[in-house]
Amino acid sequence: MVSIATLGSHCALQVLKGAKDEGFKTVLLCEKKREHLYRRFKFIDEIFLMDSFLDLVNERCQSMLEEINSILIPHGTLISQMNPEKIESIKTPMFGNKHILRWESDRSLKEKLMKAAKLNVPKSIASPKQINGLVIAKRYGAAGGKGYFLASSEEEYNKKRDHLVKQGLIDGDNDLYIQEYSHGVLAYLQFFYSPLKNELEFFGVDKRHESDIDGLARIPAENQLATDKSYSFNVIANSPLVLRESLLDDVYKMGENFIEASSNLVPPGMNGPFCIEGVYDEEAHFHTFEFSARIVAGTNIFMNGSPYTTLIYDEPMSMGRRIAREIKQAETEDKIKNIVT
Ligand code: AMP
Repeated sequence: MVSIATLGSHCALQVLKGAKDEGFKTVLLCEKKREHLYRRFKFIDEIFLMDSFLDLVNERCQSMLEEINSILIPHGTLISQMNPEKIESIKTPMFGNKHILRWESDRSLKEKLMKAAKLNVPKSIASPKQINGLVIAKRYGAAGGKGYFLASSEEEYNKKRDHLVKQGLIDGDNDLYIQEYSHGVLAYLQFFYSPLKNELEFFGVDKRHESDIDGLARIPAENQLATDKSYSFNVIANSPLVLRESLLDDVYKMGENFIEASSNLVPPGMNGPFCIEGVYDEEAHFHTFEFSARIVAGTNIFMNGSPYTTLIYDEPMSMGRRIAREIKQAETEDKIKNIVT
């Protein structure tokens, strides 16, 4: 029987608890500084200590994982810690499609896939000179919103960019992607696609609490005007949402279009968990500014199932558990090759 391994961060607790509930041996790849935290949880069978997550690609770690027949579950920490080449060089079988993670990290590939999926994507702005309305400037990679900023003019953009350069967060314009700001209600739509069942499951919706932009509304306008602080979008926490039922048909369509575009552009396609991220505008139209091609931390809210998983399963079903169940089915049907890369 295979074992299930993941990096100790992001959604590791949910993933390994779900794996244990499905009867798997669980393995945590853990930085030494976090050992104390993870030792608290009895559903983790083995903790493999490392100095840094980058040690994952080392021979010692790779052969240990091979010995215990592990499948690695990728999450946001893997993407923020390693470039696509490193990720693709990992020999341990990875759940889902590791090649699509490159499309998540690279802004232009990301935009290409979102457009191929017929998602309504806010316009990207090629040069700061073309700013003529509210824009958001984002750093490349899975930075979790840290160091993102808003600007309404080239001058404001330049000032805030220089501030980030001074802080050492970026080198210059080439490290920023500028996009039209979309107004409305933020929603992060969580899906699971099973290639074994050829079925899309809508798993839940969350919203993110981002610091310190979320604190802005607590400050009176005159105090906002008096500060020259640049607000950031660093994700701190998530909370659950349910959507108007009339929006659900469109949610499934977006998910299905995304799966179709992925299977055309990045074989073997978008298998497993993914998330479509954006804003509902005043007409309840969705504007997609991002996707995540793997489990998102927002699923941690639903460790005991979500309103939507309750409609599909008669038992508590987290995303972590759903992943483990797919692996279990693949093992029974001798189809592990269909669900890993
Ligand atoms: P991202 O890294 O693209 O997920 O963005 C981090 C956060 O920035 C999001 O959770 C939103 O709050 C905000 N954001 C990103 N892009 C846009 C956009 N085009 N319009 C409005 N808010 C955005």
